[in-house]
Amino acid sequence: MNTNSSKTAVLIPGDGIGPEVTAAVKRVLEKAGSEIQWVEHNAGIAALDQGKDVLPQETTDAVLEHGIALKGPCTTPVGKGFSSVNVQMRKKLHLYAAVRPVRSLPGVKTRYENIDLVIIRENTEGLYSGVENEITPGTVMSMKVATEKGCTRIADYAFDYCQKRGRKKVTAFHKANIMKLTDGMFLNCAQKVHDEKYPAVNYDTLIIDAACMKMVQNPGQFDMLLMENLYGDVVSDLCAGLVGGLGVVPGANIGLEHAVFEAVHGSAPDIAGKGIANPLALLMSSVMMLNYLSDTRNCANSKQTAQKIKHAYNQTLADGCKTGDLGGELSTEQFADAVIDRLNG
Ligand code: ATP
Repeated sequence: MNTNSSKTAVLIPGDGIGPEVTAAVKRVLEKAGSEIQWVEHNAGIAALDQGKDVLPQETTDAVLEHGIALKGPCTTPVGKGFSSVNVQMRKKLHLYAAVRPVRSLPGVKTRYENIDLVIIRENTEGLYSGVENEITPGTVMSMKVATEKGCTRIADYAFDYCQKRGRKKVTAFHKANIMKLTDGMFLNCAQKVHDEKYPAVNYDTLIIDAACMKMVQNPGQFDMLLMENLYGDVVSDLCAGLVGGLGVVPGANIGLEHAVFEAVHGSAPDIAGKGIANPLALLMSSVMMLNYLSDTRNCANSKQTAQKIKHAYNQTLADGCKTGDLGGELSTEQFADAVIDRLNG
């Protein structure tokens, strides 16, 4: 049951760089005056190491109870082993909408300026359903699942978001010329929702391969992107590359009653334990969480705290204080310190 207590949230440190970036973010939130009280639970290899399931029931129960979580990344073994904890959690908690804002940041120089995109990714269906079979030795198959319910609710979420926040346009990326049934259903449902409920929202569609080409040529022509699960996964990283990389793109997984906030990046085992990961993507995710708390609960100081943190990290970057992935020299903790120094500035 979601008790909707305004001040408690679950903290899941995760694997790899997860514990490093969550510790840094927790510290910034405390110094910013956040009233959140954390209830810590494990998932992923961290849970396995404690002799628990990879996604312990107590962890999902805690998110159900408190309604909200800030989550570090969990490692997913490649080509073998357990199925992704991130995917399991999104499905179990019906977190059907992944919301990923991709924005240019002050002091982070890339090929493009003034990028302001929002990716809305369907989070529970598609090839991510993980329905795979060996038909005969040497022949395997993976099933792409699309339901009218799933396609309709994600389209509704995207158009509603666009309308409520005064965004300019929604573009659906698809491959319905090849996947006529699944992507065809995705497009048909989106068109129906658009025509029946949001006719005033500017809406168009693009085949995904051409869309990726246009994206790297001129990202400024896009505003909000709507797509199914796997395309959303890939395009999120592509878009991260436009604004400075995976260290700067936050995310929210939203359901009807629960929400889990996590960065787009994974557990980055190549740099784990070195203290050099960029905590900014998770910090930005925590700002999304504070804004969500203010929108959905009577959590008085969370909007102000969010604004304070956002101003501080923008100023930190503008002052040239950056971690290694952005060309700087600060460690994870030094970057957090630099943000803390600017909280009241
Ligand atoms: P996983 O299997 O958990 O998805 P991965 O290494 O395949 O891990 P990511 O964690 O997304 O995928 O990392 C991709 C690359 O981006 C890696 O080289 C990683 O070091 C880098 N990276 C990801 N997140 C960060 C971060 N927060 N700070 C610095 N570098 C990062």
